[in-house]
Amino acid sequence: MVSHSRSLQARRECENLTPTSKIINTFKDYVVPSYTRSLVLVRGKGSYVWDVDGKKYLDFGGGIAVNSLGHAHPAVVRALKNQASKLIHTTNLYYTEPQGKLARELVKLTGLGKVFFCNSGAEANEALFKLARKFGQESGKFEIVTAVNSFHGRTIAGIAATGQEKIKKGFAPIIPGFVHVPFNDLEAFEKAITPQTAAILIEGIQGEGGVIPATKEFLLGIRKLTRERGILLFIDAVQCGFFRTGNFQSYQTILGKDAKDFLPDGISMAKGLGGGFPIGAVWIEKKYADLFQPGTHGTTFGGTPLACAVSLAVIDTVKKQKLAQNIRQQGARLMRGLQKIKSPNIVEVRGLGGMIGLQITGKSKDVVARLMEKGLLVVPAGDHVLRFLPPLNIRASEVDDALEILKNCL
Ligand SMILES: *Cc1c(COP(=O)(O)O)cnc(C)c1O
Repeated sequence: MVSHSRSLQARRECENLTPTSKIINTFKDYVVPSYTRSLVLVRGKGSYVWDVDGKKYLDFGGGIAVNSLGHAHPAVVRALKNQASKLIHTTNLYYTEPQGKLARELVKLTGLGKVFFCNSGAEANEALFKLARKFGQESGKFEIVTAVNSFHGRTIAGIAATGQEKIKKGFAPIIPGFVHVPFNDLEAFEKAITPQTAAILIEGIQGEGGVIPATKEFLLGIRKLTRERGILLFIDAVQCGFFRTGNFQSYQTILGKDAKDFLPDGISMAKGLGGGFPIGAVWIEKKYADLFQPGTHGTTFGGTPLACAVSLAVIDTVKKQKLAQNIRQQGARLMRGLQKIKSPNIVEVRGLGGMIGLQITGKSKDVVARLMEKGLLVVPAGDHVLRFLPPLNIRASEVDDALEILKNCL
């Protein structure tokens, strides 16, 4: 194997390649081909990224709702540098100040409860699955009801929880204990509950499923139903949370003043929480917050001081610069602009705050490529939806620039 890769390397080095093809070739030779990739990016600043040839792109994909403050934000860079020079990592067998502080922030933003830290969205959902099992263990409850077209991550339980056949394909046998029913269909959820059901898990807004928000009636109904049946209600807020819709949680945006009477039993978070630095978290309502006793669940990296310090800096910046308000306003500006574009290719514009989906007649990946050519990055959600997830600090002028490119491409 060693000599094989050496000869490959030697051959590549003899060829006269551009910087782009050199980097792409190392991927072809050495990186597992689990993604269809396009650009070769080298740096970012604010809402822009640059490729290896120096071409500039307006980034409305935001690393799929991850880069909350855009790229290379001074507050993020400062927090990384400061904390890295003090303490990057230590085991969870010790206490650190940043982890406690971040947990307190998340509880203040959400409701009474406690937080478990991990490193990704899939891991955060894994913690919820284990919480449901722990909760139901003595009464024989273990099943979790999720929605058709949901997305809950790529782990072996995550793909079982995900309500999309294409995600499960090739990985049989799918682990038991998950059933899927149509999203926003209260009656279907009610019918799916059996004596074995431990929890219901839904996204506040289905992201990968095509930017479909939960309805107000559904959220209120599902909370009432889960209380009556004595089962848990979990929200996967990995994509739709962290101020994306103009409030910390999407259900706060959807419910408006009714949100004060609504609190789930568990919420998974990741993506935007670290502003680009990997971190995941699960908020657990106070009644269930002590179910994970020592030895029941754990992670080496979860809640490492570096990740928590960065996340605290992101939250502090969102508060000080009123970015929840900003994304509400700029999201509305983008939505209005999209609605004004007259094109037979547009089927529907939908979403909330800075999470917007544009349903088109054509193939999303073709339009994504065309927009990229013109300097705008967006991400597809399925075959016919373009997804806009700009940074929370996006400017009105940048929204207008994106709309101009869109008008010309649609
Ligand atoms: C991205 C995503 C996940 C998985 O998060 P990873 O960090 O990729 O593991 C889970 N749920 C939702 C709703 C997501 O959008």
